[in-house]
Amino acid sequence: MERLIEQLRKLPGVGTKSAQRFAFHVLRSSEGDAAALADAILTLKKHLRLCSICNNITDTDPCAYCTSPTRNTRLICIVEEPTNISGIEKTRSFHGLYHVLHGTLSPVNGVGPEQLRLRNLWPRLAEADELILATSPTVEGEATARYLLDEIRKTQPTLRVSRIATGVPAGSDIEYADEVTMTRALEGRREL
Ligand SMILES: [Zn+2]
Repeated sequence: MERLIEQLRKLPGVGTKSAQRFAFHVLRSSEGDAAALADAILTLKKHLRLCSICNNITDTDPCAYCTSPTRNTRLICIVEEPTNISGIEKTRSFHGLYHVLHGTLSPVNGVGPEQLRLRNLWPRLAEADELILATSPTVEGEATARYLLDEIRKTQPTLRVSRIATGVPAGSDIEYADEVTMTRALEGRREL
């Protein structure tokens, strides 16, 4: 029991209380469910890896996006986590490639540039026409976008770099938008 709690506590956002709750759940569940959980974890580790080009989670290296003949290889969208890719793919309006950082800069939490997966990004810049910085409009996401822009400018001063627009969410009333959201919505306005 202690061994399991100790391992569960290593998961992000899981404290001792949650770890104990999970462990008791496993204890009460059927042997089949416990085996399925253990097997899912081991299978994930055995068969999935990070794409050596874009850091996306994949079972083949390079991943399906990086090897696709129909994608625009000169357009790269930088995202924080592999899960962000499915959100962009759902729009069906992006046909470029990705680069997954696996995190954002956060000095408070001790996350510096060396903790992000950037090493394989720099060689890709020479092959790109445009880079989209699609990190979240949070303090960390903005700081990460700023850092990337500064670094990119050092070697690629003419590369087109854009930031995703943020602002008032679709379907919401602008009356309830806060100041920051409204400012961004105005800054990101487009001509009709
Ligand atoms: Zn890839």
